[in-house]
Amino acid sequence: MSVFGSFRSGFAYLRRRFAARPELAGPADATSHPHGFDESDWPFDDPINTLCFTTRHVLDGSRQVLEVYHDHEGDWQFMCGITNAPADGKVVCLGCMIDRDPTLTQLADMPSGWFAYRESPDEPWWRQAYKNDDV
Ligand SMILES: [Zn+2]
Repeated sequence: MSVFGSFRSGFAYLRRRFAARPELAGPADATSHPHGFDESDWPFDDPINTLCFTTRHVLDGSRQVLEVYHDHEGDWQFMCGITNAPADGKVVCLGCMIDRDPTLTQLADMPSGWFAYRESPDEPWWRQAYKNDDV
């Protein structure tokens, strides 16, 4: 469906942009910085400082993460559900996302090519595989 196509192509653009100019990623590129959780208990296969994607609404605190994509390339995308426009995209550290919302660790075992959705931060995640329509 086009909703995934536009979403994914938008973030593919962001990924290329940051790959070309890693300095744009800012603090997310730091090799080491502190987080507020016990790092010995890290549940993801990806390293704590893995770059991932979110929206400016999540970072400014105005929206919660309601949609999570572990895309077919292996990237994590933590979306607020109201935008997938590249102009609203932000690159952040996976550990910093978990600091912001510890409930995201419930998705640590979600494979690539799956997305998860919830009605609100208090609701359980609903998961589904999706097709890689862009390829
Ligand atoms: Zn971090």
